[in-house]
Amino acid sequence: MKNKNLKNAAFFTFFFLILILASACKEEPSTRYFKAMDTFMILKAYGNKAETALAISENEIKKLEETISVTLDGSDIYEINNSPEKEIFVQKDTLEILNFAKSIFEETDGSLNPALYPVVHEWGFTSGEYKIPSQEKINSLLKNTDFLKIQIDEKACSVKIPDGMKIDLGALGKGFAGDKAAEILRKKGIKSALLDLGGNIQAVGSKPDGSEWKVGVRNPEGGDACARICVKDCAVITSGGYERFFVGEDGKTYIHIFDPKTGRPVENDFESVTIISKSGLYADSLSTALFVAGLEKATEFWRKKQNFDFIIITKGKKIFCTAGIKEKTDFSQEFEVSFVEK
Ligand code: ADP
Ligand code: MG
Repeated sequence: MKNKNLKNAAFFTFFFLILILASACKEEPSTRYFKAMDTFMILKAYGNKAETALAISENEIKKLEETISVTLDGSDIYEINNSPEKEIFVQKDTLEILNFAKSIFEETDGSLNPALYPVVHEWGFTSGEYKIPSQEKINSLLKNTDFLKIQIDEKACSVKIPDGMKIDLGALGKGFAGDKAAEILRKKGIKSALLDLGGNIQAVGSKPDGSEWKVGVRNPEGGDACARICVKDCAVITSGGYERFFVGEDGKTYIHIFDPKTGRPVENDFESVTIISKSGLYADSLSTALFVAGLEKATEFWRKKQNFDFIIITKGKKIFCTAGIKEKTDFSQEFEVSFVEK
């Protein structure tokens, strides 16, 4: 009897030792938390080079912020908007984002428009002093928002905008920052990282065990995610009407995503648009542009391009998403899901 007890004790000790060893081998990620680009960021990476690689990534994001911030005196965008000089020499990053924004402006019939900044500012979204401007004021500000009039000289690395125009890269800068951070990590040999830039997710490789990252899409009403998508090496970026808004004296809700045609916050039945694509810059640009475009035009754009996926959540607990993600996404039972086919 005593012998049997001893045998049992030895077995359990051995079993627990194995458990302790296994959990010790399970690698913990290196993590960095910081504020940048007006939001909170969490960068997580695995591997013995993760610590250094993350520090460099954080630095790069902050450097980019200093380059493209609309409010920081001395940034490229600040100079473009405020300098009396006509031609402003800028960093390569600024040029790349502006060029990209121009192409998306053209391709989405002006739905993404960085030159809308004075309008967004007038409504108080940059200061928090919200107000509903007069139609007259909106109309006069809209006159200077033809983004195609920006002149980008690639050779000279310079930019010119017409008098009265002011630009802001808030709708796509964070996506570009995610791309840069991910690129640094990959170059440093990181095989597994998950970057959260204020809700904009960038996956580098897959999880350390080789399985894909599971990224949740926020439920506009709170609670559990309304969809969870498995991804590796790509960006999952959401624009949500619930992120920033105010209720006007007229009792109506005004969101921070604007229709450049009307100079007013978008009023459709969208709660959010999530874009899944290899490029964060593309995903961030499209999350805003397709929110403005609405379901029909968003679907049309996707059918033409087919180089990204979308998950659109509308009021009334409906989800519309591209058919390609069916197999890799779990949807909350609360939502009615429709798949958009090619
Ligand atoms: P977030 O800033 O929450 O990530 P978005 O990527 O959708 O969300 O960007 C929205 C921001 O971009 C707004 O706060 C506003 O400053 C600016 N913006 C709003 N509407 C447009 C638009 N149609 N085109 C370009 N920029 C816009
Ligand atoms: Mg965006």
